[in-house]
Amino acid sequence: MSVLRFTRIAVSTACLMAVVSCQQQSSQRAADRVLKNGQIYTLDATQPWAEAVAITEGRYVFIGPDEGVNDYVGVSTEVINLEGKMAMPGINDAHVHPMDGAIKDLFECNFPFIASPKDIADAVAKCVDENPNAQWIRGGQWGSDFFVDHAIDNPRTWLDRVSGEKAVILSDDSLHNAWLNSKALELIGINKETPNPPGVEIVKHSLSGELTGLVLEGFGYLRALVPPPDKREYDAAARHVCATANAVGITGIKDASASTTQVEEFITLDNRSALTVHFAGALETPYGVRETPLDVAELIQQRERLISEHVDTNFVKIFTDGVPTAARTAAMLKEYTLDNMGQIATKGQLHIGESQLTRDVIALDAAGFTVKIHTAGDRSVRVALNAIAAARDANGASGLRHELAHAGFVDAADIPRFQTLNAVADLSPYLWYPSPIIDSVISAVGRPRGAQYWPINSLLLSGAPVLAGSDWPAAAANISPWGAIEAMISRKNPYGDYPGALWPQEAINLQQSLQIFTLQNARAMKIDDKSGSIELGKLADLIVLNHNLFTIPTSEIGDTQVLRTLFAGKTVHLIEE
Ligand SMILES: [Zn+2]
Repeated sequence: MSVLRFTRIAVSTACLMAVVSCQQQSSQRAADRVLKNGQIYTLDATQPWAEAVAITEGRYVFIGPDEGVNDYVGVSTEVINLEGKMAMPGINDAHVHPMDGAIKDLFECNFPFIASPKDIADAVAKCVDENPNAQWIRGGQWGSDFFVDHAIDNPRTWLDRVSGEKAVILSDDSLHNAWLNSKALELIGINKETPNPPGVEIVKHSLSGELTGLVLEGFGYLRALVPPPDKREYDAAARHVCATANAVGITGIKDASASTTQVEEFITLDNRSALTVHFAGALETPYGVRETPLDVAELIQQRERLISEHVDTNFVKIFTDGVPTAARTAAMLKEYTLDNMGQIATKGQLHIGESQLTRDVIALDAAGFTVKIHTAGDRSVRVALNAIAAARDANGASGLRHELAHAGFVDAADIPRFQTLNAVADLSPYLWYPSPIIDSVISAVGRPRGAQYWPINSLLLSGAPVLAGSDWPAAAANISPWGAIEAMISRKNPYGDYPGALWPQEAINLQQSLQIFTLQNARAMKIDDKSGSIELGKLADLIVLNHNLFTIPTSEIGDTQVLRTLFAGKTVHLIEE
């Protein structure tokens, strides 16, 4: 552990020199809240550790040693004894789909990524039983390799047998691919003659030509056709987002594809002073193949309307490709392996042509939006970097740090371009360690290329800006960051339930990992001037942990418990030990 170093920055010279005036000041200085006797990791290079902080009107007014904080204790000050515990800035999750995750937690038919056919049959049958009045059962998530590992002749009729009269739609772990029963296909209006929408494959049985119920890259397209959650469900979901995020130490979230309806729910909460996270929303744009430019004027109107004290929507999401799993839909520079059904060779495909993407990025950059571009394959990474380069040529250095989401496969020639173009690698450490989904990726992409996944150390060494996000509920079972923080250091499965290490040469250290999850992610949300580190004048977004991350074995980081979370100085989560 680093040696504790303190600076008494908050104690004025006048106070040190004259006892009388010091006492007068101290009564004026009485803080709302003081936390003392802690090991507080500040993420401020000038004062990396402190014992105590004082908070007034939600902001830090003192950071330093215990003896210095006593000046800030008045009759009405709440004094919290940290009893030697570690505290640090709140975590920011800079790539998450919070409403989807909360709706899934609260209202959907859930089974784990590793569910067997029997598990799924049991789960669906139970949901059908428990929801007698529902027309639709939404749920998931089946593993990317589920249909590789389990011989199911026709997934649609298999699902019919357990779903009765209900329409059922189940997403996969990536949230890109869907599995539907006959009733769902009928209600949506898909039959054997329905042509594939651009970029989507309605999978038919290779022998009979019957619908299999699988729709690759179809989840976004189908979701628009399935009745959405109602107002009551959205309202409960927004509250659930705050509670689940705060409970694991998160005080900031960046919604990676925010619909106006969803953002409005967070604004409503904020206006009632009930939003307990900073919320940055990357406004959603049409998913799937698109040949027309984005309506930037409409996005500007949304940005002007969708704003409140803790909500900002000066961000836009663009999807360029799919996923590099068994679906083989991420755009790669070289061909995937052939699948076990003898599928023809493919490199995946771009949803949006390079020239269209370039036009969009130039226009959004000129309008002041930070763009988050979904780039799961090394070809889409290259194309997105080219589009950002074109925006720099057209608009000059806007200072906007556009993001490449996932960017797990990056050709060596493209690594230095992140730094040159001031483009951010938006990484997914909640997913990238040995697990069934990684096996699916490696077998689809092929070795050695498939196992050279997630070059985070190389990116950092090249000077690339980096952020991290959960992508919950895609691929991540929950929003907790602690397994991801461990995996960035160990490159191993943080829950110990899967052997091996994924490209261990790309491991980084704890300081780097915490910096990404606090300050760097705050920067990606444009809140680094007021959050992301413990510094005078910043908002007291602070968490108290059950152990000191710097003194425990790396393998225990994933089990970290957050005992207390402060958002803007107020306790929003507390576990009494
Ligand atoms: Zn995402």
